[in-house]
Amino acid sequence: MLGYKEDELKTITLRDFTHPDYVAGDDVSLLRLVAEEIPVYHTENRYTRKDGSVIWGSATISIIRNNNDEIQYFLAMIEDITLRKIAESELIAAKEKAEESDRLKTAFLHNVSHEIRTPMNAIIGFSALLNEPDTPESDRHQFIDIIFQSGSQLLSIINDIVDVANIESGQVKLNIKEMNLNSSLRILDEQFSYKEKPDIISINLDTGLPDEQAVIMTDSTKLIQILSNLINNASKFTRKGRIDFGYALKDGNLEFFVKDTGIGIPPEHHEKIFERFFQVDNLVSRKFGGTGLGLSICKAYVELLGGKIWLTSNPGKGTDFRFTIPYVLPGKV
Ligand code: ADP
Repeated sequence: MLGYKEDELKTITLRDFTHPDYVAGDDVSLLRLVAEEIPVYHTENRYTRKDGSVIWGSATISIIRNNNDEIQYFLAMIEDITLRKIAESELIAAKEKAEESDRLKTAFLHNVSHEIRTPMNAIIGFSALLNEPDTPESDRHQFIDIIFQSGSQLLSIINDIVDVANIESGQVKLNIKEMNLNSSLRILDEQFSYKEKPDIISINLDTGLPDEQAVIMTDSTKLIQILSNLINNASKFTRKGRIDFGYALKDGNLEFFVKDTGIGIPPEHHEKIFERFFQVDNLVSRKFGGTGLGLSICKAYVELLGGKIWLTSNPGKGTDFRFTIPYVLPGKV
């Protein structure tokens, strides 16, 4: 079990192959054995094998005394329980994951109810006000604007939920067609430049290929959805500064980026934010809401398109989301 030959074992003691983290605990119990406070003791320790690998052992240790009650030996029996320990820790990890996902789902339901109720209330409230005969014309325009925006917000929440449901049931199909990348990105740039507060956040596009090389085969709707999601997030989490987005050709792939000068994301959340429903708990998330679905949709779509997505971030300074998709020219599919 420990990898020693019988002769070698005779020259060492239990202490020599007990993992250093467990030696002190053993010492205390051995003293209690010697003092006859306890007749025998059981423990689960880690032990170092001769080759340096570490196993888990269930140990039962007692004392052999002679007729005069003098201590002769410690008798240690150790059973290898490494497999059981591995199974146990897998179970614990699975349980923690299940609890986490349960917690996230509950948080999601709270969020979604809030996210749906807010625009719904606006729609109901302002349509009632529209009905008031003495509402001035200028107010009516403002109310109609609010109703329109709230309706769009509701639609995007519902779209996200439908997307996630489709991703989960494996029903998302790719629709690969020719796409004029640069002109689609320019349209996106215009849409967002119009939406953002131009004096505070500037949006800048960097197309990495000349137009004639930027006609590619991909699912343009999904690609634009990924970029819109990332730019939306960037503008949500950036109070001032700039958002840069674009792409470059790298190792036969197109590497896209959406970079902001916003609040950033602490390193411990870099993987989690791609999980469904996950949101970093901060003032901005609480103020602007959201469902925690956007990035999980982005990740699923990027992977469907054959790429990967990651980020680097400097908390307080900004975030740089990147993803790749294959660079496939028409006629090469
Ligand atoms: P939502 O934006 O609806 O909450 P997402 O899945 O799009 O859901 O994002 C998950 C979380 O990741 C956000 O709640 C936010 O905490 C964090 N996040 C995403 N993008 C950024 C960004 N550009 N800067 C800072 N935090 C971000």
